[in-house]
Amino acid sequence: MRVWAIANQKGGVGKTTSTLCLGRSLADAGNRVLLVDLDPHGSLTRAFGVPTEPPPVGTYELFNDKNISEVARPSGYPGIDLVAAQPAMATLERRSATQPGLGLALGRALQAEPDGHDYALLDCPPTLGLLLVNALAACDRLIVPTQTDPLALHGLAGMLHTAAMVERSRARPLLRQILPTLFDKRTRTGQQTLEQLQAHPGASACPHPIPVDTRLRDADALGSREHMYGRGLAAYEHAMQWLLDTAPAEQEAA
Ligand code: ADP
Ligand code: MG
Repeated sequence: MRVWAIANQKGGVGKTTSTLCLGRSLADAGNRVLLVDLDPHGSLTRAFGVPTEPPPVGTYELFNDKNISEVARPSGYPGIDLVAAQPAMATLERRSATQPGLGLALGRALQAEPDGHDYALLDCPPTLGLLLVNALAACDRLIVPTQTDPLALHGLAGMLHTAAMVERSRARPLLRQILPTLFDKRTRTGQQTLEQLQAHPGASACPHPIPVDTRLRDADALGSREHMYGRGLAAYEHAMQWLLDTAPAEQEAA
């Protein structure tokens, strides 16, 4: 199973939207996809119509030694299973102080899963904490959705700094990729920021930016098959092709 973390320490940059759209794209191509909602706010979970109150079984139990198959549920979208977010995830930070192995819990759970999913996509919270560290330890690539706005460059730098820190404790190198989002080609700042992202020394940027598209704004609809196909989803298809063409070296041989 390939594990992709979708992360940025900045909120509102398109992490959850990218997780949804990339997950759809992989599932539409015939893959079995697992989406893991690592954000206690649960916007990915709600996009599939799963309420976070009362708390369903989900991500929290992965930190209590449960397996993926015990906590994943059909999402309603063909080919996609979901591990739902729960408010209790917010209490994990406190537990991590007294429970040293907790940083690797997610990776263990994903590796214990022998069958089933071809891909796991991890929708990360914007805060630097136990859940994000778990995702960075468990993934074989990090995709950083980055708004094509000059202010977003700080968030990207912070994320790449965190990735470099976590990478030191990993056995394998971490492939880092930038996915430019919320791109408005009519603005000069949008164009300039895209150029800066494409020349970024810390990670390779996808040459296909995701445009601003109002059809992507309704996350609840994105979780259903009836959602209207538009240029936003088309851009995610192009981005997916680029992502698949840039597999980490050790996966080529696998
Ligand atoms: P994050 O998970 O990083 O906080 P979201 O994916 O929730 O970001 O996106 C933030 C907001 O922007 C949401 O309301 C979402 O629907 C909207 N959005 C995301 N990508 C696009 C896009 N390409 N065009 C228009 N709206 C978008
Ligand atoms: Mg989100």
